Amino acid sequence: MTHLIAALQSEAERLGFDLIGVTSTHTPAHFDAYKNWVNSRFYGNMDYLATERAVRLRRKPNEILPECKSIIVVGIRYPIEADNNLSWKNDLTGRIAAYACGMDYHLFVPVLLEKLKLKIEKLLNQTVNAKIHCDTGPILEKSLAMRAGLGWIGKNTILINRNLGSFFFLGELFLDINLENSLKEVKDFCGTCRRCIEACPTQCIQDDRTIDASRCISYLTIENQHEIPRNLRSMMGNYVFGCDVCQLVCPWNRTHLIERISQKEFSSKHLLPFINLPDILLYSVIQFKNHFKKTPVLRAKYRGFLRNVVVAMGNSRNPEAIPSLVTTLYDNPDSLIRSHAAWALGQIEDNRVKIVLEKALKNENNSVVKREILAALEKNELLNS
Ligand code: SF4
Ligand code: SF4
Repeated sequence: MTHLIAALQSEAERLGFDLIGVTSTHTPAHFDAYKNWVNSRFYGNMDYLATERAVRLRRKPNEILPECKSIIVVGIRYPIEADNNLSWKNDLTGRIAAYACGMDYHLFVPVLLEKLKLKIEKLLNQTVNAKIHCDTGPILEKSLAMRAGLGWIGKNTILINRNLGSFFFLGELFLDINLENSLKEVKDFCGTCRRCIEACPTQCIQDDRTIDASRCISYLTIENQHEIPRNLRSMMGNYVFGCDVCQLVCPWNRTHLIERISQKEFSSKHLLPFINLPDILLYSVIQFKNHFKKTPVLRAKYRGFLRNVVVAMGNSRNPEAIPSLVTTLYDNPDSLIRSHAAWALGQIEDNRVKIVLEKALKNENNSVVKREILAALEKNELLNS
């Protein structure tokens, strides 16, 4: 068996995985924390995370694959650049979370896991029943990864490896064969540190290592397809897809910033994490789909992404954003985007704003957009008083 594990480790490394471990199908240690999270309704509009089935399968991973005896957990790193875009307000630059700047991990991690499974079959000379997951099923994957020895779950709720930090994707291979479990869980090295909790822009990290997802920028910019609550918009800074703040401040990531990683599926499609906000606002649906083809950014969908872009432009408070925002408020056919453009204009201290908002109010028929224009006029009056 030791021989098999060694062969798997070497194959995993050859395939490009940075971490690999094996765990059992017992209930993950963080199940109770997840249950409390569900009961506190911290899942925003992601009701699928709280159904009876979602809870049951997270408690019993062996129901994912009934004959399951072992779970292999793998980690694969992605590149991250330091948060050095300090002039984003002047440059009108938006930021995309690092994991989304390459090919969508759902497209390549399962392919690599399938190759790992084939290797197991070859080594054992038998067919193996398996199920592959990569952020796709009702699994407490970070808890399984922790039990497989890949790292510990930090106070920011992300899995951290002492040597590699936390910028990696996780994937799981559920198997109907018995593999020797990795030796033991990794100790918690957060200690007295609270940097992530203090740095989180929306203060959504809870003390029990869960997140109030309804306030998290990752949720707000990706999963949430509706209005972004007005009180949270100004906390989003220039993030237009996801958020890296609670990982960037983590001391365990310090040595990994700007590190280049040669995972070819990821780097072959690598985009810069910084985008020009007014340029993106001019994109058609087709241009958006082409620019972000095969990246996770498509998950936000065109209208959600443009909504995020106008919020970031408002947060810049830069008068140079006014012309693009005015065109959006006057001409965009989508009331969701117009309403956020009105809000964004209200954030900018400039004499022109009152005039353009009043003109928009006369021509606007949508009640939600009208409400936003009125709130923006009020805010603008405060800024100019
Ligand atoms: S991703 Fe951003 S908003 Fe969400 S918990 Fe981390 S720092 Fe807070
Ligand atoms: S920033 Fe500090 S508290 Fe947060 S996950 Fe990293 S080590 Fe833990």
